[in-house]
Amino acid sequence: MRLVVVGASGRMGRMLVQAVAASEGCTLAGAIEREGAPALGEDAGVLAGLPPLGVPVTDDPLTAFAAADGVLDFTAPAATVFYAELAAQARIVHVVGTTGLSPDDLRKLDAAARHARIVRSGNMSLGVNLLAGLVRKVAATLGEEFDIEILEMHHRHKVDAPSGTALLLGEAAADGRAVALAERKVAVRDGQTGPREPGTIGFATLRGGSVIGEHSVIFAGAGERLELTHRAEDRGLFARGAIRAALWAQPREPGLYGMDDVLGL
Ligand code: NAP
Repeated sequence: MRLVVVGASGRMGRMLVQAVAASEGCTLAGAIEREGAPALGEDAGVLAGLPPLGVPVTDDPLTAFAAADGVLDFTAPAATVFYAELAAQARIVHVVGTTGLSPDDLRKLDAAARHARIVRSGNMSLGVNLLAGLVRKVAATLGEEFDIEILEMHHRHKVDAPSGTALLLGEAAADGRAVALAERKVAVRDGQTGPREPGTIGFATLRGGSVIGEHSVIFAGAGERLELTHRAEDRGLFARGAIRAALWAQPREPGLYGMDDVLGL
């Protein structure tokens, strides 16, 4: 499968280039950065700490997408919406790991998915997607006498909060309780908040250092507490998940898919 990495000089972009180079049956068909980016012209392999791959970083996604079967996109919401249109026009697979997408951005992805095969997930790891299944089950089993709180920590460079993974876990909890997350979510507490409102789903965000990603879902009842935790130890796991998603999506019909589809969960 010929894959293009967009945002090729980013933290995840470089991991994706490494993972494509290491994956049998995949070749790097292009590496894209925004206009004026310092990495333009550099070899994508060298940028990722590998021997040269003969693929220079360019700011020309149209040409790259025309010669590819899929695009791996861990960039920023505005960039992802832009690439979704181009990927749909080129009829190629679009794997979206970007987080922080607004409801309007998501509507645009939905529109693009009429023509394209899009796999989107706030977390591409097997462990977190399994965790989401467990959270759904525990939330359904324990009922509202157990308060649900989701705690996450990421490195100091992360720009959106709560993390895409925390929201994914919140959706799973809400789903287990057959409620809408948007109506139950409490993402900020500050000052005189009053007592905790029953049935809400709370989020707490920690930022610092080089933490790749840690998430705990806490079910706090009277006299007992159940905690489910996932710790990402290597960014490569998200990149490998993205490639698995691209390969899975290649023979599918156009549509918007999630990692639970890819992993058969
Ligand atoms: P990062 O290091 O800032 O990388 C983002 C890259 O995208 C940068 O190189 C950035 O370039 C580039 N970019 C932005 N706009 C672009 C455009 N219009 N065209 C081309 N490139 C563009 O961030 P990161 O840590 O790799 O994370 C990227 C995204 O992936 C975040 O949303 C993060 O939350 C998400 N993520 C998801 C998962 C998952 O499993 N789903 C896992 C890890 C991270 P500039 O520096 O020039 O802006």
